[in-house]
Amino acid sequence: MDEELHEEVTGVSLLELDERSCRFPVARCDDTHFFCGEVRRDPKTRYCAAHHQIVWTKRRPPTQAELKARKAAKYEQLKRKKF
Ligand SMILES: [Zn+2]
Repeated sequence: MDEELHEEVTGVSLLELDERSCRFPVARCDDTHFFCGEVRRDPKTRYCAAHHQIVWTKRRPPTQAELKARKAAKYEQLKRKKF
């Protein structure tokens, strides 16, 4: 039973990380955090290709078109409230 549980914890602990390991946190077991540990995509990122994509997409500022669409949607909402 215990061994099965251990197998479900993927990733590496902080001590096992080196400067080329992806630092994306994937799990937490008691007080130990586990990180992805894959080889980083390139030296400029702290993450592997997949996790770099996730982090970058989240933090990406909205484009002008997206801002416009957001404004329009808000305006539509206000219009609907009034009438
Ligand atoms: Zn990763």
